Amino acid sequence: MQFIDQARISLQAGRGGDGIAAFRREKYVPAGGPSGGDGGRGGDVWLEADPNLQTLLDFKYKRLLVAVGGRGGLGNAHYLSNRNRAPEKFTEGRDGEEWQLQLELKLLAEVGIIGLPNAGKSTLISVLSSARPKIADYPFTTLVPNLGVVRRPSGDGTVFADIPGLIAGAAQGAGLGHDFLRHIQRTRLLIHLVDASSEDVLNDFKVVQQELAAYGNGLDERPCLVALNKTELLLDEELEERIQLISDHCGQSVLDVSAATSKNLDQLLSRVWKELGV
Ligand code: GDP
Ligand code: MG
Repeated sequence: MQFIDQARISLQAGRGGDGIAAFRREKYVPAGGPSGGDGGRGGDVWLEADPNLQTLLDFKYKRLLVAVGGRGGLGNAHYLSNRNRAPEKFTEGRDGEEWQLQLELKLLAEVGIIGLPNAGKSTLISVLSSARPKIADYPFTTLVPNLGVVRRPSGDGTVFADIPGLIAGAAQGAGLGHDFLRHIQRTRLLIHLVDASSEDVLNDFKVVQQELAAYGNGLDERPCLVALNKTELLLDEELEERIQLISDHCGQSVLDVSAATSKNLDQLLSRVWKELGV
């Protein structure tokens, strides 16, 4: 799943410095004692999560010590005793810890694009972001959610996910529906895209809403913008009628967009930023 990136890294903390065996040799100090200094501690290795990456590491916003540096060796000054005024002894630094780490990066999509297969979800995400998902005029091209980062006016990125596979029965496990619904759960806002050129736009809309409701977990209560897509294919009158049909049913305004011609995509995005409060 593209929601999760994995990486295996090897890392090794620094080796502690060796202690030194040395003696004071100074003009007015006839028998200078041992003066070997200690080796420094080896450097530690820390992992740091960067909140700007819009990613969720388990240790988000924390720094995490993953490998401790080696202890420094002791210099011969430590071994001075009454019996041995001139110790040659010193110890070597210890090696730092060495680890193989498996990192799992969990991307959190804030906005999920839902709709029946062929509604234009993949096209929309490819136009809004630099994601390049497979696009084709047959259903089920997309088998995993595609992610795209869309720039907000402030310049920061918001992750959008194109969530495929929503069909009648998805909540009961039809297709890969259940997996996809699980992904939707992590989003803050949905864009429900309906193919305006479909025979029965209202039914298409209802099928997806029913799946959200059937899945439970409050998915059908999630803030959701509704947009008719491919509207450049319709005559004005037809379009008006279809928009009215859906907005009467869902009780909210319905956007009229075209991912293919970029019609009203700016408006769609302004609505998204407004809903997200960014
Ligand atoms: P998905 O299954 O929802 O991801 O749909 P796709 O993005 O793969 O699009 C399905 C088909 O609809 C493709 O042939 C797209 O080129 C086409 N399509 C997408 N958006 C538009 C649009 O705004 N207008 C028209 N005419 N075709 C579109
Ligand atoms: Mg697709």
